[in-house]
Amino acid sequence: MSTVAIIGGGFAGTLTAVNLMYQAHCSLRIVHIESSEKRNCGVAFRTQSPHHLLNVPAGRMSAFPDDPLHFLKWARSRDNKLSESSFVPRNLYGEYLDGVLEAGINSLPPFVSYEALNGEAISIKLIQDDSKAVIKLADGNVVVADKVVLATGNFKAGRPSGISQTIASSEHYFSDAWSADCDRIATTGGDIMIIGAGLTAVDKIMDLEACGFKGNIHAVSRHGLLPASHLKTSLPTFAQTELRCELYSDLNLLFKSVKNAIRSGSYKDLFDNASTINMEVSDWRQIIDSLRPHSQSLWAALSDTQKSRFYRHLKAYWDVHRHRMAPEIGKRIAALQASGQLQTVAGRLYSVQETAEALVATIVPRGGGQPKQLKVGSIINCTGFELNFEKTESALAQSLLARGLVKAHPTKIGLSILNDGNVLDSNDRPSKVLYTLGAPTIGARGESIAVPELRTQAKELAATLLSLTNEELLPALNAQQLVAN
Ligand SMILES: Cc1cc2nc3c(=O)[nH]c(=O)nc-3n(C[C@H](O)[C@H](O)[C@H](O)COP(=O)(O)OP(=O)(O)OC[C@H]3O[C@@H](n4cnc5c(N)ncnc54)[C@H](O)[C@@H]3O)c2cc1C
Repeated sequence: MSTVAIIGGGFAGTLTAVNLMYQAHCSLRIVHIESSEKRNCGVAFRTQSPHHLLNVPAGRMSAFPDDPLHFLKWARSRDNKLSESSFVPRNLYGEYLDGVLEAGINSLPPFVSYEALNGEAISIKLIQDDSKAVIKLADGNVVVADKVVLATGNFKAGRPSGISQTIASSEHYFSDAWSADCDRIATTGGDIMIIGAGLTAVDKIMDLEACGFKGNIHAVSRHGLLPASHLKTSLPTFAQTELRCELYSDLNLLFKSVKNAIRSGSYKDLFDNASTINMEVSDWRQIIDSLRPHSQSLWAALSDTQKSRFYRHLKAYWDVHRHRMAPEIGKRIAALQASGQLQTVAGRLYSVQETAEALVATIVPRGGGQPKQLKVGSIINCTGFELNFEKTESALAQSLLARGLVKAHPTKIGLSILNDGNVLDSNDRPSKVLYTLGAPTIGARGESIAVPELRTQAKELAATLLSLTNEELLPALNAQQLVAN
């Protein structure tokens, strides 16, 4: 029997497991390792707050690419008023994923087994001519596997620049947005500074509003941009045709053409036959959404230097238009901005000092000028996630790099991989054991973070793994001995 170990119990890991269950045609043991006690949902869908909504409409959140309304049908069995364009609470989606896994387990064929392990995988060592892996968990547990899927998602963000070690240990600084207790923060007094202005920041602003916080909220980010909102009802997009071929491999032209298309309200700058189809553009979101089916091929055509440039200079603009908030949330954010309670600050956090009364943040404005000072009662780090394996504090990532089992992608975003998710080692050799999907593949694949991409990756990866695993019985290894040497 072959063993596939999956590290990570978020959407990517859970759906890889489920697809293995449904696709397996020979004996298989699936071992699924997750460090958090709340498994199957990952960081995004673990929240219990009813104010945290999906940022993708229900009609596009199915876990299965071949059954696009699977989630909507499930959600409508709870609330029949929901439609394809509804934005539902993320914890409901977490429940859905629990159900998806449970259904897979309930229909397991007798020759497939599934074991859920709770614990952090901290290292991987290859044995038997690099054809098997020994995964060590923080609690000393050991798993021996023929194939390992790194479904670890994004790593936690590190300490932002401008936050010293001293401030990081202040009781008024909250390094992890997800564990920041907004009820407590709201009652400690003073204004609040949020570092970052993306969807994580939006979640925290909603939490603060919900617990009655009345002070000012300053969201500081390099560009000072908050995510745009979805429209209440999605408009049709024009995506059935090829992009103009000169847009591939020329980042400047691509960016200019997207801007022109938005300004002129026409697809002509992007698609050759737009004039013949003559589809009306009534909103800029249609232009952005029309690029989505092409985003991975556009990304693949860019050089590594252009990819890095995109990350440095353009990603912030792309993200606010592409990763939008639910319309209900957008309305509440706009009201907070209109009342002056929420202010965005474009600039770089230079330093923070703690005095007896407040935290005093110094911000260098975007484009230069006099540094601005903000006196606040608390600071919450909402800078999101770390994608650079070389920078993360994850013990597993450090072990993989130290042993040369993985190699950072040349852009430093995720890992170097082959098209099927097979990880390359430090000598650019395809690993016999390690595969990945989701966030670690962003440098190689481009957009690889949301459910609509991950569900296809999970299905395809399961098929790849099953085509590779053989039926030989794992030799009876004394795993503890293997780890000891
Ligand atoms: C706030 C937020 C909202 C989002 N909303 C949406 C949305 O509405 N729609 C959408 O499509 N996408 C959304 N996303 C994107 C979302 O990240 C993806 O859809 C998807 O959930 C990512 O899944 P994942 O499994 O790749 O990563 P994660 O969800 O990050 O899961 C990775 C898991 O691996 C575990 N892990 C990591 N390392 C180890 C280790 N060494 N040992 C054991 N376990 C480990 C972690 O604990 C975690 O549970 C959102 C993301 C965030 C952060």
